[in-house]
Amino acid sequence: MRVLIVGNGIAGGEVAFGLRRAGSGAEITILSAETTPEYDPCSLPYYLGGEVPRERVFRRRWEDYRTAGIRLETGEKAVAIDPASRCVRTASGREHPYDRLVLAHGGSLFVPPIAGIDKRGVHGCKQLPDADRLDRHRGSRAVVIGSGAIGIEAAEALKKRGYAVTVIEVMDWILPALFDPETAGRLKRRLERCGIAALTGEKVLRIEGTEAVAAVVTDRRTIPCDTVVLATGVVPGVELARTAGIDVGRGIRVNERLETSLPGIYACGDCVETVDACTGEDAMFQLKHNALEQARVVTRNLLGASASYPGAWAFARAHFFDTHAVTFGKTTRATQCELGDLEIVEREAGDDYLRVIVKEGVIVGGQAIGRFADAAGLLIGAMWRRESVPALRARRALLGDGPHGTLAWTTRRLGELLGLAG
Ligand SMILES: Cc1cc2nc3c(=O)[nH]c(=O)nc-3n(C[C@H](O)[C@H](O)[C@H](O)COP(=O)(O)OP(=O)(O)OC[C@H]3O[C@@H](n4cnc5c(N)ncnc54)[C@H](O)[C@@H]3O)c2cc1C
Repeated sequence: MRVLIVGNGIAGGEVAFGLRRAGSGAEITILSAETTPEYDPCSLPYYLGGEVPRERVFRRRWEDYRTAGIRLETGEKAVAIDPASRCVRTASGREHPYDRLVLAHGGSLFVPPIAGIDKRGVHGCKQLPDADRLDRHRGSRAVVIGSGAIGIEAAEALKKRGYAVTVIEVMDWILPALFDPETAGRLKRRLERCGIAALTGEKVLRIEGTEAVAAVVTDRRTIPCDTVVLATGVVPGVELARTAGIDVGRGIRVNERLETSLPGIYACGDCVETVDACTGEDAMFQLKHNALEQARVVTRNLLGASASYPGAWAFARAHFFDTHAVTFGKTTRATQCELGDLEIVEREAGDDYLRVIVKEGVIVGGQAIGRFADAAGLLIGAMWRRESVPALRARRALLGDGPHGTLAWTTRRLGELLGLAG
């Protein structure tokens, strides 16, 4: 059997090497638009910030592919699929036949329509070549456009390189897809204490300069700078699937076996549209743990099993300098509920903060900074089990909560975190 994998990233690599680990004798080929062995995109900000040497960003070495008998075709960007002849065409004009095809080509940086975005000194932070270019770039004043997790990590990395850094966010709070304004406000203060300016509710209008960047102009001010980093989100790659008439929405649509609308063609990773493991709702959580789990399901199905994917986990972290924060489930905004229909449990201890969102008696999301982040696992478990917060409250009242009380440790700790009076 010929297995052709498009994309040599987290998901594609996991499928290829997973097949071999399971003893598959399939002929495995990976098409990669890039020119290196697989690397971990999550480590790029650490490489940029000087915490991780470049060689440590790689997840595989050239010899790993040779030893495993996996053909890696680098610089081969797939541009079209012909399902009738079971062939993938690349930009170089070569054709690659397959019996089973795996689309694992991730997404690409969203490039906003801002005048001057093509000037020298404007960078992405999505792929290794972006990080290499930024590493070679010599600047001292940077503007990061976008305050998602990647934007914040890029800002920290540049700060560590000695840049003066300003982050600009069009929404009214930083990390808007991951945190509520109450949590984000505390994170913003911590960011500013580390010397990074964060401007929220501010829109970038254009980038000025002759050939190279000289300033970023927003709807409120002009910020002189010599470096701009775009951290404006990741768009799932759907164009390749479209060439074969595969069903796509925001991402490539798949069934529970992660097979696309065309039999024998699977998809996994950032290019896939899937469901929330907790709620079953449509979801796109472009995170490494989801890419890996999807790849493992695809691998099992290629091996002949009938494995189902339970859905993606909305669990992410934001980490900068000595601040550690986690978020899980939905933010208040994502619940699409009136605030009055939600119960918000908040705990605060010094600089640390916990916010749990309860809807109809069950936890639907939460955010934690500092020591509360260490306990997020308990809350995620309660969310996954759809544990009833009123029932927990009643149990505490019934059984008491003294040092020799009969409550299980987890129930007691959950009660403490949720601030249940008992
Ligand atoms: C800077 C950064 C930090 C991150 N930090 C975290 C984190 O802390 N935690 C977390 O969970 N997630 C994090 N992520 C997200 C995580 O890296 C992704 O969810 C994960 O890499 C997705 O895996 P993938 O295989 O789908 O895509 P990728 O790993 O992006 O791999 C896709 C590969 O396909 C190639 N490709 C694209 N198009 C084609 C084509 N047409 N033909 C051939 N090859 C193609 C690409 O060049 C790429 O090599 C981070 C991402 C970035 C960029």
